[in-house]
Amino acid sequence: MRLTRPRDLSEALDLLADQTWHLLGGGTDLYPAHVERPFAHPLLDLTGVTGLRGIRRTLDGWSIGATSTWTDVVRADLPPAFDALKAAAREVGSIQIQNAATVAGNICNASPAADGVPPLLILDAEVEVASSARGSRTVALQDFIQGNRVTDRKPDEMVTRILIPENAGTGRSSFVKLGSRKYLVISIAMIAARLADGEAAVAAGACSVVARRLARLETVLARRQPGDAFSDLVQPVHFDDLSPIDDVRASAQYRIDAARTCTIRALEEIGS
Ligand SMILES: Cc1cc2nc3c(=O)[nH]c(=O)nc-3n(C[C@H](O)[C@H](O)[C@H](O)COP(=O)(O)OP(=O)(O)OC[C@H]3O[C@@H](n4cnc5c(N)ncnc54)[C@H](O)[C@@H]3O)c2cc1C
Repeated sequence: MRLTRPRDLSEALDLLADQTWHLLGGGTDLYPAHVERPFAHPLLDLTGVTGLRGIRRTLDGWSIGATSTWTDVVRADLPPAFDALKAAAREVGSIQIQNAATVAGNICNASPAADGVPPLLILDAEVEVASSARGSRTVALQDFIQGNRVTDRKPDEMVTRILIPENAGTGRSSFVKLGSRKYLVISIAMIAARLADGEAAVAAGACSVVARRLARLETVLARRQPGDAFSDLVQPVHFDDLSPIDDVRASAQYRIDAARTCTIRALEEIGS
């Protein structure tokens, strides 16, 4: 197995242009997926690339560098709109996993149960990808993840940053994850919700091939009045766009029921 650890971005992009690599962040998805299965390509370890790690305020929002870990998210000084992302960060595996695993790796792995995706969806996250041939482009996270383990990334591209626009950083948010136990568990269903003045964002994970926003529910919540009970506002019909599977962890119907319950709990946690 060959592993190369470039020091700067242009070196990494030039290497990517030359041949196919497995990009390596924390390796917490990549290595377990290759137990007793050799790597088809050499590894390009991105963790030494200067400037790729860090969560920063920008002129028009926030930027999460590609090698930023879940622990970096937990420790970052961020407004309450990011509370759902921080809560998800604390639920990714264990502390050891959170110290190594990156946010970018979570979205690039494109698992339907990736805990980071719903909290990023409610922040209108965009993914910045770069190649040496074409420079940088940004794509909305909801378009970047295209299926189970499928993304919009081309072989000569890497994710460089995740961008959160200024106007999505308003309001308060929360994240509720249901697993078969409390700790170190793959989600059966998860919900991230953000409420601001006259605005609502709700996303469900592990209930469809790709995590998705619940647009009809968001419209109802945006028009909420003081005193409205979330248990009345959130109705089963709002989950009709989800298409969960039956598997060893839960039936499809259980996942739908759980998604509604998790949504009500997430909204109650935020408060009106
Ligand atoms: C014990 C254990 C528990 C876990 N628990 C959870 C959990 O509770 N919730 C959860 O969501 N996940 C969980 N995971 C999965 C994993 O930790 C996360 O998905 C993590 O965020 C992956 O990040 P990474 O940096 O380790 O990715 P890696 O394994 O390094 O990479 C994952 C994929 O992304 C690609 N990639 C990485 N960085 C880039 C980049 N910059 N540009 C383009 N492609 C890139 C890689 O090529 C690979 O295909 C768990 C894993 C383990 C081993």
